[in-house]
Amino acid sequence: MRPKVNKHYLGIDFGGTNFKFGVVDSEFNLKEFKIMSLGKLKDPRVSIVFIKDLVSDLSKKYKLMSIGFGLPGPVDFETGHIHYLVNLKNWRNIGWKKLMEQELKIPVFLDNDVNAATLAEYYLGSGRGCLNMMMVALGTGVGGGLILGGKIYRGASNVTAEIGHIPLSIKGPKCNCKGIACLESYIGNQNLLNYAYRILHKHPESVLSAVKKKKLIISLEDITDAAKAGDKFAIDFWNDVAEKLGQALVGVVNILNIEKIVIGGGVSAAGQFLFKPLRKFVRVRAMDIQAKNVKIVKAKFQNKAGIIGSALIAKYALEKRSF
Ligand SMILES: [Zn+2]
Repeated sequence: MRPKVNKHYLGIDFGGTNFKFGVVDSEFNLKEFKIMSLGKLKDPRVSIVFIKDLVSDLSKKYKLMSIGFGLPGPVDFETGHIHYLVNLKNWRNIGWKKLMEQELKIPVFLDNDVNAATLAEYYLGSGRGCLNMMMVALGTGVGGGLILGGKIYRGASNVTAEIGHIPLSIKGPKCNCKGIACLESYIGNQNLLNYAYRILHKHPESVLSAVKKKKLIISLEDITDAAKAGDKFAIDFWNDVAEKLGQALVGVVNILNIEKIVIGGGVSAAGQFLFKPLRKFVRVRAMDIQAKNVKIVKAKFQNKAGIIGSALIAKYALEKRSF
């Protein structure tokens, strides 16, 4: 076997439904990537055993210097403490860094998963070359991460940039966060599909009506495909999504005067059908100077952002770099 001379870093993206891990070298080239369903790993005890085996296996092949975790919920980057994880009920008040370091004998760091994705895009992806950036992750939920003055902004208690919970109106659907008419209640993946179903029956002329008849369901990809084929219903649908997201982003742009907004997650696959009307909406509605200085771009790493960011946190924190 070749000697393990090169330094490597393990990034683990612990999502609400999937467990992803990746190994990168010092230049953040991805050497290994795997995605699996969370399944039994929802139980922290099962997770600990699994991660121990995983690290032991990977260590045969790579010289692992440190491990970074991206976790879905409020966690304390400084102390390595998990307050709780959203949608994973047994993960509450765990001194994860200390526990993992005892088990693995390798330095461990952790951060919120959207912060990890934000750092990946900022240092290595579509956010490079600016000082102030917002990441928007569009999925089941709508998450955000914020870089201000070249550093991740953590706020008073590590719960910043919750763009999904910006209210769009005084009245509207109730959100899990206690809020009313939150952005996420409109453009979270499932909410988008529910909305599409609600309005589709009024549009028998849309190709999506035929798709639904055939498959019984439609997906967001189907809506993008229909838009590509020139379907008016589908194009209007993405225009509507762009307006809702744009409404929240105008507030962000006016307040923060950021230079870049990086948009990732499944919905960003709608490409120009989302980005074109979104850019226009922000340009027209935001204050002139802020609007002129902000670029809205698609994320580079998509479903790998979390693991690359977690590995980046592992490396930078080990090197005591501030980020
Ligand atoms: Zn909310």
